[in-house]
Amino acid sequence: MLRIAIQTKGRLNEQSVELLREAGVIIKEEKRKFLMRAANFPVEILFLRDDDIPQTVAMGAADLGIVGYNEVAERGYEVDILQYLGFGGCRISLAVPKNVQYNGLDYFNGKRIATSYPNVLQRFFDEKGITAKIHTITGSVEIAPAAGLADAIFDIVSSGGTLISNGLVEVEQVLHSEAVLIGTPQLCEEKMNIVRQLMSRFDSVQKGYGKKYLVLNLPSSALDEAVKILPAMRSPTVIPLAQSGWCSLQTVVDEKELWDIIERLKAIGAEGILVLALEKIVL
Ligand code: ATP
Ligand code: MG
Repeated sequence: MLRIAIQTKGRLNEQSVELLREAGVIIKEEKRKFLMRAANFPVEILFLRDDDIPQTVAMGAADLGIVGYNEVAERGYEVDILQYLGFGGCRISLAVPKNVQYNGLDYFNGKRIATSYPNVLQRFFDEKGITAKIHTITGSVEIAPAAGLADAIFDIVSSGGTLISNGLVEVEQVLHSEAVLIGTPQLCEEKMNIVRQLMSRFDSVQKGYGKKYLVLNLPSSALDEAVKILPAMRSPTVIPLAQSGWCSLQTVVDEKELWDIIERLKAIGAEGILVLALEKIVL
């Protein structure tokens, strides 16, 4: 039995549960306890605050954990990073009040910086030869400069909206983060087998992120042209239609390119275009 620690509630909870569900690790949500056994896989889920996940995994009280890379980097426990999971993206950045003149890292020498990530910041400053006073704050770091508690902050940024509404500007991006799968070092072979199976399932789910399945009808004479436009896993599937001179084409496309591809296909005579959700890709 493998134990996986995930966030109880918060930004990573929903996507962690969803990733596990799509990988076939299904837990009944109705009567949620802090430790739950999956219905159909030899796995149990331990729900924790994200702060506690790296330590729990390092101690071996959970074999695996899903947590932001930022927490792993800050807490410094010995865990293996097994897989980047493609959600919970953010960065930890230095930000200063918008009215100050910022012209490089030297600005931070002798300044007071408020942060919940003192270790990551100290390492960065050591590397760059900057000496600053780091104040550790666990609550709302972004209000520290306006409250006179700090000259700058080092905090998580995703859209940047929080910084703007507090009169701050991001000046240095220090650490890029996303959710990661972490593991206790030296898991036994029996558990590693389940871990490998899970990781390959996670990989299939991730490959499906941002992808769509496209089905369309096309005059057979335009087929060569369409194959040039379409990306595909190997090459598009072509099925003849009952009406002669026509075929049906099926392929996987990246959501970012979807509209461009559809417009180019329409221009060569494509009709009846269906865009379908795609769940997993197993290579
Ligand atoms: P907990 O109650 O579990 O301690 P928390 O309040 O510390 O939760 P959340 O705000 O739920 O943490 O964020 C969890 C993780 O989500 C962060 O550690 C980070 O990896 C990621 N994340 C992504 N975008 C953001 C963002 N805009 N602000 C904060 N965290 C973000
Ligand atoms: Mg936390």
